[in-house]
Amino acid sequence: MARYKDSVCKLCRRESSKLFLKGDRCYSDRCAFERREYPPGEHGQGRIKFTEYRHQLRETQKLKRMYGVFEKQFRTYYRKAERKKGKAGDHLLIFLERRLDNIVFRLGFANSRSEARQLVTHGHFRVNDRKVDIPSCLLKEGDVVAVREKSRNIARVLSAMESVVRRGVPPWLELEKDQFKGTVKIIPTREEITIPIEEQYIVARYSR
Ligand code: SF4
Repeated sequence: MARYKDSVCKLCRRESSKLFLKGDRCYSDRCAFERREYPPGEHGQGRIKFTEYRHQLRETQKLKRMYGVFEKQFRTYYRKAERKKGKAGDHLLIFLERRLDNIVFRLGFANSRSEARQLVTHGHFRVNDRKVDIPSCLLKEGDVVAVREKSRNIARVLSAMESVVRRGVPPWLELEKDQFKGTVKIIPTREEITIPIEEQYIVARYSR
């Protein structure tokens, strides 16, 4: 699988938005975006021409980068979302939120989605008491995610659980911190997914 190897803070600067890709650092004054809010590169501080196409592209890249999803998979989510009743943009975001790596991050077992993805791939989680090591696995209402017993002393998991207080657990999830587990109470609605995305631009781009 392709991997992005450059500094992830550059992605925030490119998208002119905090994407929270580095865990604790994103909430501190060491955040690169807070220090330099302009895009990276030689022409980063130059004049930007705002066009419809640019807006569509930037919103798409922002969403893909937030969830760490590449084009092929993203397009698959979009096609599935398009086939559902209702707004394709809403369903696209709901699909992304239902990913196991996102839910591990939202529950506070990892500091970022990329860390969550790595922990899931290494087999540190169980879903409904079965080992699942596929980060893109889509969870449904009632599913229970738990840190594997042997993995409960991993420093990265423990430090993430310490700092979850700062970002909070969304109301559609229930965290039982002492038990190292969390439940998907309900599938979130668009209103419950609080990310700064204007998905109508993404829909316009993909529905051409
Ligand atoms: Fe983005 Fe976090 Fe880096 Fe700030 S610290 S620029 S929010 S990844």
